[in-house]
Amino acid sequence: MTSSARPILNRRLAEFGTTIFAEMSALALSTGSINLGQGFPDTDGPEEIREAAVRALRDGRGNQYPPGPGIPELRTAIAAHQERRYGLTHDPDTEVLVTAGATEAIAAALLALLEPGDEVIALEPYYDSYAACIAMAGGTRVPVTLRPSERSFRLDLDELRDAVTDRTRLLLINTPHNPTGTVLTREELTAIAELAVERDLLVVTDEVYEHLVFDEAEHIPLATFPGMRERTVTIGSAGKSFSFTGWKVGWVTAAPALVAAVRSAKQFLTYVASGPFQYAVAEALTLPGTYFTAFREDMRAKRDLLSAGLAQAGFEVFRTAGTYFITTDIRPLGESDGFAFCRTLPERAGVVAIPNAVFYDHREAGAPFVRFAFCKQTEVLEEAVKRLRSL
Ligand SMILES: *Cc1c(COP(=O)(O)O)cnc(C)c1O
Repeated sequence: MTSSARPILNRRLAEFGTTIFAEMSALALSTGSINLGQGFPDTDGPEEIREAAVRALRDGRGNQYPPGPGIPELRTAIAAHQERRYGLTHDPDTEVLVTAGATEAIAAALLALLEPGDEVIALEPYYDSYAACIAMAGGTRVPVTLRPSERSFRLDLDELRDAVTDRTRLLLINTPHNPTGTVLTREELTAIAELAVERDLLVVTDEVYEHLVFDEAEHIPLATFPGMRERTVTIGSAGKSFSFTGWKVGWVTAAPALVAAVRSAKQFLTYVASGPFQYAVAEALTLPGTYFTAFREDMRAKRDLLSAGLAQAGFEVFRTAGTYFITTDIRPLGESDGFAFCRTLPERAGVVAIPNAVFYDHREAGAPFVRFAFCKQTEVLEEAVKRLRSL
C-alpha cells in the first residue's frame, strides 16, 4: 500500500471496475437462478475433438512451450479453413498467428497498431474487452451506435463516415455482432471497406461467431472486399466455433506486416498458450461441413425456443441473425432501466441476464436493452422460459 493520494489502479483502467459478469454470476449462484448472462455453452464440443486433446497431452505434444506463432499443423489448418470457406489464401508461416483466444488477439492487435492518442471507431454496444484494450493501448475510443430498427440493430453509415477524423487509426468491427445478434450485410460491409480504403484506415475485425449465422444471413469476412486484404486483421476463435471456450485457442489472419506487428505484442503477453489444445483445434478445423451445419441448426433451434419464450413473457425481442445472444427491450414490461431489471430478475424469476448498457459509452442509448444467452441445453432454456412467464 502507498500512503500517497495517488490511486493504486492507473488512470487508463480506473473507469472499468469489475466486469458485470462477476456480479451477475454471483447473483445466479446465491439465488439458484438459471444463468443466461455469460455466453458459454453448458455442453462441451465434439467428443472426438476432446479426445484429440487427451491424445496430444498423453503423447507429449504441446506440453512444453509450443512455437511462438502457433504449431504448424494449426496454422496450416487455419489457412485451409479460410481458403475453403471464403477463398482467402494465407501463407501459414507469415500470415497466420495463434493466440490465447480471440481476447489476446484483440489486445495484441490494439497494443501493436495504436499510438497514444489514435482514435479507434468501434460499433456500440461493444464486447467488453474492446474499451479496456483501447485504453491500455493509449487509444481513444469513438463509438458509433447501432440503432434499433425493425427488430434488429443497424449501422448508420453516415454516422460512421462522420466519426472518422484525421486522428482515426482503425475501425474495430465485430460481425456477427455481440450483443445485438446483428450480421452486417454485404452492402454495409462494402461501405465500411470503401471508407477504410478512402481514409486509409486499418481494420480489426472480430469474427468469432463466423459459424453462427442463421436463416438467410451470410457471414462475409471484411478481408474479402476490394482493398481490404492488406489492411485487415481478421480474428477467429475455437471457443465459439467448437464449444470449447476454456481452451482459449484463437487466431489472427492478415498480411505479413500486420501479423508481424501483432506478434510483436503477443510475444510479451502470453508468448504462447494452450499447447495440447492447439493440436485438437487443428483437427477440429478439418471437421466436415456436416459438423458446422448441425452446430448451426442446433443453435438456431435454441434461438427460436428462447426468442418465442421471451416474446410470450412480454419482452420485445430483436431478431438474432448471428451469435448466441438475444437482445430484448424491456419497455413493454413497464420497465426502462436494464440495470435495475437485471439486478432484480434473479429474485423475481430465477433467471440471470445482462443489461446491454454495460456495453455502451452512451449508457442511456442502451438502458432499456437486456441480453440473454441461448447456448444452453434445451431443458435449461425450457425451464428459463417457464420461469420468465411469471413476470
Ligand atoms: C467470446 C468473444 C471473444 C473472446 O473469445 P475467446 O476466444 O474466448 O478469447 C471475443 N469477441 C467476442 C465478440 C466474443 O463474443
